[in-house]
Amino acid sequence: MHDWVESLLALQELDIRLAKMDEQLRSIPDKRKEAEKQYAAETEALNLAKAAFKEAELAARKYDGEINALLEKKRAFQSKSAMIKNNDEYRAALLQIEMCDHAVGTLEEKQLEAMMALDGLKETVALREKDLASGKKRAEGMLEDLKTLTANCQAQIDELQAKRPELLKPFAERYPDEPYLERYTRLRAGRGNPTTPCVVPVLDESCGRCRMKITAQLKNDTVNGKLTFCPSCSAMLFWE
Ligand SMILES: [Zn+2]
Repeated sequence: MHDWVESLLALQELDIRLAKMDEQLRSIPDKRKEAEKQYAAETEALNLAKAAFKEAELAARKYDGEINALLEKKRAFQSKSAMIKNNDEYRAALLQIEMCDHAVGTLEEKQLEAMMALDGLKETVALREKDLASGKKRAEGMLEDLKTLTANCQAQIDELQAKRPELLKPFAERYPDEPYLERYTRLRAGRGNPTTPCVVPVLDESCGRCRMKITAQLKNDTVNGKLTFCPSCSAMLFWE
């Protein structure tokens, strides 16, 4: 392998590592959002449980008012009945009182059912609160991990950036008149994925990147250390 190829491959390896670190860094905001979304469902479930509890509480309280109104009505019949002399009217009043008692009994049963349902809903609220707390804890763990990941990526990027000037040196010192570095830089700045190589070997007379067959002439030039490019994907070619 020609020296300039080795220098270029070393640079490419570092640049790809840098690009991968950069990619990872750029994916972090989305991952943060994902972590925060972790407990959105739990928050929603808790809100629903609280709303159901409140509604049931209001319904249970409504019975109090209805029962009190009936008891009030019953007392009115009772005081009225004390003053009635006529038997028929007296019986009618007693019947009204009995009806009031019956209605109160029915309402009290319903109220008891509502209170029992309320207990169940209270338990649900407590469960949902627990779910939310663990969802938050899980998200906090993820966010903490992402913080570490960010710091690690940044540290690695700094380390790689510090090494890069050393890898550029051969081009200025040994090949000052050759366009190796310039063409490489231009290729990397192109539309290709920065985490994949743009300097690739010729494999079985084909481009090592797009696998398109290359001409015998192009292969010869590559073997002889000339600067060559794949005609279909423009990758820089070299002979191993
Ligand atoms: Zn190609």
